[in-house]
Amino acid sequence: MSDANARLAALRAKRAGESAAAAQSNGTEEDPTKVWHKTACVLCSNNCGIEVRLDGRKITRVRGDKEHPASKGYTCEKALRIDYYQNGRDRISSPLRRNSDGTFEEVSWDVAIAEVAERLTGIRDSVGGDKILYYGGGGQGNHFPGAYARGVLQTLGVKYRSNALAQEKTGMFWAQGKMFGKQNLGALGDFEHTDCAVFIGKNPWQSHGFPESRNELNKIRNDDERKLVVMDPRVSETAAMADHHLRVRPGTDAWALAALLAIMVEEGLTDEKFLADHCTGWDELRDLISGADIADCARKCGIDEAELRAAARTMGTAKSLSTEEDLGIETAPHSTLNSWLQRLLYLVTGNFAKPGGMNLPLRLAPICGHSGEGETDPVTGNAMLSGLVACAAIPDCIDTDHPNRFRGMIVESANPLHTLPDSKRFREAFAKLECLVVIDVAMTETARAADYVLPACSQYEKPEATFFAGEMPANYFQVRHPILEPLGESLPEAEIHSRLVAAMGGRPAGTDGLADAAQQGREAFIEALGEASSTDPDVGAKLPVVLYDALGPTMGNMAPAAIMFGASMQASMRYPDEVRAAGVEGDGLELANNLFDKLMNSPSGMIYSVSEYSQTWDRIAHPDGNIHLYIEELEDEFRSLADEEPAIGQDRFPFVLSAGERRSSNANDVIRDPEWRKKDKTGSLRINPDDATTLGVVDGDRVRIVSKRGEAEAPAEVTDTVMAGHVTLPHGFGTEYPDEDGEHKIHGVAVNELTDIEDRDWLSLTPHHKHVRVALEPAVG
Ligand code: SF4
Repeated sequence: MSDANARLAALRAKRAGESAAAAQSNGTEEDPTKVWHKTACVLCSNNCGIEVRLDGRKITRVRGDKEHPASKGYTCEKALRIDYYQNGRDRISSPLRRNSDGTFEEVSWDVAIAEVAERLTGIRDSVGGDKILYYGGGGQGNHFPGAYARGVLQTLGVKYRSNALAQEKTGMFWAQGKMFGKQNLGALGDFEHTDCAVFIGKNPWQSHGFPESRNELNKIRNDDERKLVVMDPRVSETAAMADHHLRVRPGTDAWALAALLAIMVEEGLTDEKFLADHCTGWDELRDLISGADIADCARKCGIDEAELRAAARTMGTAKSLSTEEDLGIETAPHSTLNSWLQRLLYLVTGNFAKPGGMNLPLRLAPICGHSGEGETDPVTGNAMLSGLVACAAIPDCIDTDHPNRFRGMIVESANPLHTLPDSKRFREAFAKLECLVVIDVAMTETARAADYVLPACSQYEKPEATFFAGEMPANYFQVRHPILEPLGESLPEAEIHSRLVAAMGGRPAGTDGLADAAQQGREAFIEALGEASSTDPDVGAKLPVVLYDALGPTMGNMAPAAIMFGASMQASMRYPDEVRAAGVEGDGLELANNLFDKLMNSPSGMIYSVSEYSQTWDRIAHPDGNIHLYIEELEDEFRSLADEEPAIGQDRFPFVLSAGERRSSNANDVIRDPEWRKKDKTGSLRINPDDATTLGVVDGDRVRIVSKRGEAEAPAEVTDTVMAGHVTLPHGFGTEYPDEDGEHKIHGVAVNELTDIEDRDWLSLTPHHKHVRVALEPAVG
């Protein structure tokens, strides 16, 4: 048994003891099925705190955790079915190696680690580690893998990363970088206290995005003093509650946003004092916005000018305004421009750095990076934004004879062959890779194409944490404890990366000394860590794995949370006053130590920072401390709106398909078992009654959907929640899943068989998933 294996065996033995102790501390040692275990729902970025009961490996009961500092007992209906994630039939329980005939065989961890290390270092040594792309790293509450991967990436010399943010959010990140100085500085809404909530291309009733989303929406709806504004082509659940539903024609959000801003300028709804005191570029911006023809914009976006004016007045006169955009405008025509204009709505009205407005929260760790001007991927020359290769550029970075092409990929906790645009193009490109390694919990579409599949623990079998939290003035964090043993031979990603680093010869010298120091106590460890990092830069470069290897053995079943020690040190150095304001005591390393211990010992999560709203100003990264309103690179695109006619119903694809609608029956791809859905089991095509009549279909009839890139069939759901000419399909369907007899079937439409990688934003390359041109006809047979 290797050292690493021996350590893991010891950890597991200790964990078993601790699990038993935990059950006894609940006073129910006689019946373990009655014990409530604290954890979180992993089905959306909210990560609501939940408590679950277990019967063996099955999650039998779920309820909201009232002690969770943000969700306070709230959940939506999805959390109740989380066992379908935990106990999916396609979980992977041992390492797999692909044979030449395409089948997989089980291999031992020692064999898998040795061969993966050899294949990837082979690429590094022959053409350079920068020819290996790392994709994924987590999401929806699974965040440690991306951090622990750093050890492997440093050892291999990997320079390029990407993940789902680079198909959805990088245009938005780029715009906020221009305005606030860093692409990872995102202002978030204070919906709990706001007088006017504005949702643009977002339906928080289903997509959530802030604590207790449905409760907050109901509170706003039931308070005459508070207003709700929604811009969405659909009558979504949120739109149906709105004071102003701006029912924009699909793909014309930029015109609607331009009209709202022009009305604000024309009617004097702007906050001139705020703009003069805190912003640069207002004069140029006002001139640009004033040039927009409000009536023409209203005509193009399909909303009455009077409705636009009424909504602009509500927003411009509200005591406070919070707003959030989402994929409805981020994966639609003019997506980066849309994100700029959405930010201007709250900035020109002065709703920044104040209660109920938009604020820059503290975070324990950023959710993305920042790319400087001129950073591009090594093959296509497309811009890298937030430190990420654009997803839509990945196939062209592989399937080419360019000398810098990617030869190898590590895909972790992600399924790009299903979730990225134009799956056919991705499959063609991935087939050209010399080595594809997938680390995941389930046999995904991408895992099926891999050379090696390394099984990871589920999120309930290892410690994990909530990194998306961004609340003001108090922010919270939850480090979750494992509640189940790992399935089969699956391992926490921290252990997988630790073993890979060791097998690649990348373990920093001195790690054993650090582990010895950790055994002597935290003080000795901190001193040894300081010394080691000052003499060996590799220690800092691979800090997550170093912490896991050295500090982890002192942490029992929480070893994979060792990385939180680094996060605690950073928080205590960067904003000690805010950490102390949250009740954590001490200075310097003592403060870091106390924060770390408190995080480890707060299974429901804790408030770890408290700030003043006005401290938002201290977080602006521009040296002048101002918000830079004007984005020169988007000026021409804004002006071109005057001459452009939105492309609707003009060619052989007369319908606009929103590919990937959020419904109560989907949760990205986190749950793959189709049985988790009580309704909408096959993922219906929502279609307007007039269109259904024209096509001659009724509810339940199958409809053939044809795009430039593919075709599919789905049952019709006739509803006037979509307008004529617009149809929608949910995301998260079309996955391949084995039935009880082991026969694999595809359930519903995989929307990326219809999307086209070439339909994308010119700047960020975010694909136009919400604006896929299709033709429809009744299915035959
Ligand atoms: S799906 Fe999201 S909102 Fe619903 S319970 Fe889970 S984390 Fe909370």
